Amino acid sequence: MKEIRKVLIANRGEIALRVIRTLREMGIKSVAVYSEGDKNSLHIRLADEAVCIGPAQAKESYLKSENIISAAVSVKADAVHPGYGFLSENAEFSKACHKNGIIFIGPSADSIKLLGHKATARSIAKKAGVPITPGTDGCVEKEYMKEAEKIGFPVMIKAAAGGGGRGIRIVYDKDKLLHECEMAKNEAMAAFGNGEIYFEKFIEKPRHIEIQFLRDSFGNTVAFAERDCSVQRRNQKLIEETPSPAVNPQLRKKLQKAAANLADSADYHGAGTVEFLLDKNGDFYFMEVNTRLQVEHPVTEFISGADLVRQQILIAMGEKLEISQQDADNFKGHSIEHRVNAEDWKNNFMPSTGKVKEWILPGGPGIRIDSHVYQGYDLPVYYDSMIAKLIIWAPDRNKAIARSLRAIEDFKVEGIKTTLGAHEKILRSPQFMSGDIDTKFLENFMASDEFKK
Ligand code: ADP
Ligand code: ADP
Ligand code: MG
Repeated sequence: MKEIRKVLIANRGEIALRVIRTLREMGIKSVAVYSEGDKNSLHIRLADEAVCIGPAQAKESYLKSENIISAAVSVKADAVHPGYGFLSENAEFSKACHKNGIIFIGPSADSIKLLGHKATARSIAKKAGVPITPGTDGCVEKEYMKEAEKIGFPVMIKAAAGGGGRGIRIVYDKDKLLHECEMAKNEAMAAFGNGEIYFEKFIEKPRHIEIQFLRDSFGNTVAFAERDCSVQRRNQKLIEETPSPAVNPQLRKKLQKAAANLADSADYHGAGTVEFLLDKNGDFYFMEVNTRLQVEHPVTEFISGADLVRQQILIAMGEKLEISQQDADNFKGHSIEHRVNAEDWKNNFMPSTGKVKEWILPGGPGIRIDSHVYQGYDLPVYYDSMIAKLIIWAPDRNKAIARSLRAIEDFKVEGIKTTLGAHEKILRSPQFMSGDIDTKFLENFMASDEFKK
């Protein structure tokens, strides 16, 4: 057993608060880090200690491994929790933690390297017997046309180090392939500091289905019920729900088995998510592994009753999981998460900044809000536009939709624009209500008169 008495959270915003809350319940001290642009952030007030790690630009602070490690050493933290985004899937960072005698709350550097690199992960999935999207074996460096023709157009170009929907391009037209590859490489280089790309067959109108799993150092693996994240804009999730209206118990078992096999074959220790595409025929394809906590993890917590951050910490301490597969199988009800962004959805989702003049949150049964925003808070321009996650639980999907609508009505924000109105439109659309949606649903719906009026 490794003792963890103090944890530094290498992140900001809602996820920093999320982690601090569990630490406090476990009697573990928390240390916040913040940039100069985040001096008024809530995570500083909620943590036991706080250390400034640099200027507002993430490159100079939240992405600066050396600064975070030296902060962790100076406050004598036993462990670092990376949250999501930033350094959470950076193998070098996790190695640097270990070198300094600090536990990285997440999988080993090797696991991150193998599974976090999207092209390498495909070959590991293939070896584990998990069906993968047709595509290239590893990255493509030359002979783009030959590789693309083997797959067949339309082809999807993806960044090997990608995330958050960035570095993805669809090519329908052969003549555009070379140009699009160059664009994708540049975009990936700028966003991830790694210009490697690979190709996948573009699957028409799939659903995005993913399996959250936990695996401890004793080899116990638990795979939760699927999350459906098909409501996306620019390959970025906007609404997530669990269970999926498109998955029956047989398919669920298959998806869970695929994810668990992958975790076992990589001897993975920690929490992770395997993402799949599900096509109209009920066939599914491996897409990627996220070797970290995900934004949408609360919907799984709502239907299972598990605290995923607590399990992550227990695994990092070398303890056994407190949850069994049977517990995960006995999930209850339905949960929906709404990512509330500071964006003007009526104006092409333009980012909105400024002072939050009014901030009144919904409450009552089945409502959870994870947010770092408060009345009077000045939204910094440097970071992600997500300002809150509105998470709903209800006994079934229809009731969860009704409760979501009620909560959105109760949610009062002044001073900045939010995407709450777009969520309401989506919830009221007959297609979303029917559950018959795919990853192109939102784009099509946004172009309709119903959305624009
Ligand atoms: P999830 O898979 O948890 O839904 P997202 O893909 O929405 O996560 O990403 C969560 C956050 O992390 C977003 O702010 C996104 O921009 C950021 N992010 C995800 N992957 C990367 C990456 N490889 N590099 C940098 N930021 C990333
Ligand atoms: P990221 O690392 O940015 O999350 P993913 O590989 O998970 O990238 O893909 C993000 C989204 O892009 C998916 O949720 C899906 O909507 C879409 N997508 C990815 N690969 C394909 C594909 N081969 N065919 C169709 N859509 C895809
Ligand atoms: Mg993804």
